[in-house]
Amino acid sequence: MNKTIAVIRGDGIGPEIVNEALAALDVTAQKFNHNFTYIDVDMGGCAIDKWGDPLPQAELDKCIAADSVLLGAVGGPKWNDVPGHMRPEKGLLRLRAGMGVYSNNRPAKIWPQLASASPLKESIVARGIDFIIVRELIGGIYFGEHRTEDVFGEQRAVDVLTYTEAEIERIGRIGFETARRRRGKLCSVEKSNVLDSSRLWKTIMHRLAPEYPDVELSDMLVDNCAMQIVKDPSQFDVIVTENMFGDILSDEASQITGSIGMIPSSSLGATSCGLYEPIHGSAPDIAGKDLANPIGTILSAAMMLRFSFDMDAEANAIESAVAAVLDAGYRTGDIMPTDADEAAMCRLVGCREMGRLIRERI
Ligand code: NAD
Repeated sequence: MNKTIAVIRGDGIGPEIVNEALAALDVTAQKFNHNFTYIDVDMGGCAIDKWGDPLPQAELDKCIAADSVLLGAVGGPKWNDVPGHMRPEKGLLRLRAGMGVYSNNRPAKIWPQLASASPLKESIVARGIDFIIVRELIGGIYFGEHRTEDVFGEQRAVDVLTYTEAEIERIGRIGFETARRRRGKLCSVEKSNVLDSSRLWKTIMHRLAPEYPDVELSDMLVDNCAMQIVKDPSQFDVIVTENMFGDILSDEASQITGSIGMIPSSSLGATSCGLYEPIHGSAPDIAGKDLANPIGTILSAAMMLRFSFDMDAEANAIESAVAAVLDAGYRTGDIMPTDADEAAMCRLVGCREMGRLIRERI
């Protein structure tokens, strides 16, 4: 199969981790007889430096025209003081909106080899952590009106949170369908005791429920959900929630699984052209030092093969290679055990070596 992949290396550790993911894709293409063509796209701080814009239209067009997009990460202290509309993260919001990817899926799954890296008690981890957060990605408060105004000499800031029925319904359906393919449990998370947008959210979820009789729907307030994720994560199968709640909860969920460097994500809309990226940022503190964990990006590439290209066997080959490398005791710094006895059983490797070890096992 021939596929064109738009590649956004971005800033900080972005180029290092994306290089390893592309090398893993190349080995997979060779093994399964595919041909992947990569188109470089500038986005984030590097695009501001080069084009004076975090995502020029021509760069966005390359992403829309591709079969899928692989992204490293954007941002860094160098661009902290640029005006709000020019920040690297604006490029990311524009990319998501431009591609129409309204559904962000983040798995929160503990790798058995890394169970001790979870900050939760062993007794909680032993019950299992394996859920997905389906987050609405191009609506809500991040895309509402933002303004800061002067009211009688005092500054007032306004951020508008809006959801339409259609926006809620399409993400709700993704939630139900995801649960249907898993253990059949969907938890809809909102703040319906306070927010109108959440009350509409809840109404639509219950309106959809009869269409999915094989899925058990429950409701949870977002503050309770934040508690339950650390108290008993085993209760969750699929969580569906709005943009900002999903942003916060999915970072919390990533932490209980060990390291943010391990977690991939997919963002999809109405077409098979998806956006695949690790959930972490550009980690400027370790950029350029060969210290980054490339696994979240490599697993994002595997998700691309599975969800956008329908290549299950190929995705499995990458995921099994990651498991084999962890089984063999290889660890980047972020997943190295802190316990001395456990650490003695592991081998510390850098970003490039981790990528090479995974490729070797694909
Ligand atoms: P971060 O995720 O970049 O880093 C948080 C911590 O996790 C750091 O200590 C970092 O070293 C570590 N870390 C992250 N990824 C790692 C990896 N693959 N391997 C090993 N360690 C890893 O979050 P931050 O420090 O809050 O943000 C840094 C920059 O990234 C900011 O400019 C922020 O705006 C941007 N950011 C970008 C994205 C994105 O591109 N999608 C997401 C979040 C943050």
